[in-house]
Amino acid sequence: MGAKVRVIERKGRTFLEQLYLLEVFKGMTVTLGHFFRNLLDNSRLYVRHYPEVQPDIPARWRGRHRLTRHQDGTVKCVACFMCQTNCPSNCIRIEAGERFDGRSEKMPVRFEIDLLECIYCGYCVEACPMDAIRMDTGIFSVNSNDRQSLLIGLEQLLETPGAYDEEIYQKGAR
Ligand code: SF4
Ligand code: SF4
Repeated sequence: MGAKVRVIERKGRTFLEQLYLLEVFKGMTVTLGHFFRNLLDNSRLYVRHYPEVQPDIPARWRGRHRLTRHQDGTVKCVACFMCQTNCPSNCIRIEAGERFDGRSEKMPVRFEIDLLECIYCGYCVEACPMDAIRMDTGIFSVNSNDRQSLLIGLEQLLETPGAYDEEIYQKGAR
C-alpha cells in the first residue's frame, strides 16, 4: 500500500515579511531592552571584574606545579621518573643525583617542567608514589612574553608554596 502523501500549499512570504523591517525591529527591541536594563542595574550580570576580583580556586583545581618537602625540609622527590614516564606531553625532564640525607638513594639534581607543553592533566601527580609533586599552588594564570621563563626548574618548583591547608587539600583530592 502506497504512503498517503499530504501536499502542503506554500503560501510564500507576505510583503511585510519580505521587508524584514518588523523582524529587525523586534530583534532590536530585545537587544536594546537588555542593553538598557544592564546599563541601569548590573547586579544581575554574571561578570567577574578580573583581575581586580580574583576567582576562588577550589583545592581540586589543577594549577601550576610544585615539589613538596618532608617536615624536616628534605625533598620528597626520589627521582623515580614515574611522573616523567607518565607525562603524555613529555614535558618533564629529570636528572637524578646521589642522595646523602638518608632519605633514599636518589634525588633530583635537575627537574624541569615546560609549562608551554603541559596540558595540566595531573597524571604526574597521580603517578607519583611519594606525593612529591602537586598542582595545588592555586596559580591558574601562566603567561609570559618570554618562553624561557615558562620552563620552570627545581628551585622554583620547591619554592612555590601550596595554596591550601593540608586538611583542605586532602579532602579536595579525594
Ligand atoms: S600535568 Fe600532565 S602534561 Fe603537565 S607535567 Fe603533569 S603529566 Fe605532564
Ligand atoms: S616527583 Fe614523584 S614521580 Fe616524579 S620523580 Fe619525583 S618521586 Fe618520582
